[in-house]
Amino acid sequence: MNNNLSKNIVLDKIWEGKEQSEGQGAKVVRLIGGSNDVNVDPFLMFDYYNTKLPGGFPDHPHRGFETITYQLEGEMWHEDFKGHKGKIKPGGVQWMTAGKGIVHAEMPFSFTEVTKGFQLWINLAKENKFIEPNYQEFTNEQIPIYTDTDTKSTVKVICGDFKDISGPCKSKTPACYYDVGLNEEAEFNLPVGDDKTGYIFVYKGSIMVEGQELKTNFAGMFKPGKGDTLNVKCNKGSIGKFLLLAAKPIKEPVYQYGPFVLNTQKECMQAIEDYQEAKNGFEGAETWKSEIQNMKYQK
Ligand code: MN
Repeated sequence: MNNNLSKNIVLDKIWEGKEQSEGQGAKVVRLIGGSNDVNVDPFLMFDYYNTKLPGGFPDHPHRGFETITYQLEGEMWHEDFKGHKGKIKPGGVQWMTAGKGIVHAEMPFSFTEVTKGFQLWINLAKENKFIEPNYQEFTNEQIPIYTDTDTKSTVKVICGDFKDISGPCKSKTPACYYDVGLNEEAEFNLPVGDDKTGYIFVYKGSIMVEGQELKTNFAGMFKPGKGDTLNVKCNKGSIGKFLLLAAKPIKEPVYQYGPFVLNTQKECMQAIEDYQEAKNGFEGAETWKSEIQNMKYQK
């Protein structure tokens, strides 16, 4: 039960992810972006990937937003044209700010074991679209978990604040990113913040939100009123694991051309030119090739 100063959030829309091809030979379940008719400003894209080599995401550019990779199973290897390399392991996160320009590769680690996880794109406000690129990377052990004493429900705080816990990732756009685990018959209230819009995505089991059931691979979006909280529960015989994402809307025009997200078409044309001519943030792009993109040939 909530106190009488706030209401429980009712989901505005519930939808199921669509499987589609992405990168080279990789399959993803896409919830936001593409042909999904949902607008959750400032979230541009959200994919649940489940892939292995030779599929992957070989060398490609980005400009104008942040890409966040949260790994569930297996490893995702990455490498960029500024010399940064890493291996994201289960429970680990990489928060990349593309800013004015990044070129990178993201590749699964194995031909036989699957690589599973989530890739999220959060838009940057106009004033931040041309900042220097930046990486934040944290292992599973570096990300704090809140455990509810009554229900033993858990909230892993990747970004934002929950109770007295602060997530290690810093978002340019005020945001929270939680990985929540509910046990059988547990009921739990999550404050979200009334300046944010958001969504939840169930990746295991099923949960109930104000009488509506969300099964695996379903998402639900919401816009809280002042003081509202998200009341989630699990039915008898079921557990639920889900991600909760909420952020302050940017409310600016969005123009996207593939991996470039700017405010206008003209700025997107400029991004294409800058990448092709290796200038204005893409210096070095013309000669750079990642080592990991060749993994798909090395079986
Ligand atoms: Mn990428």
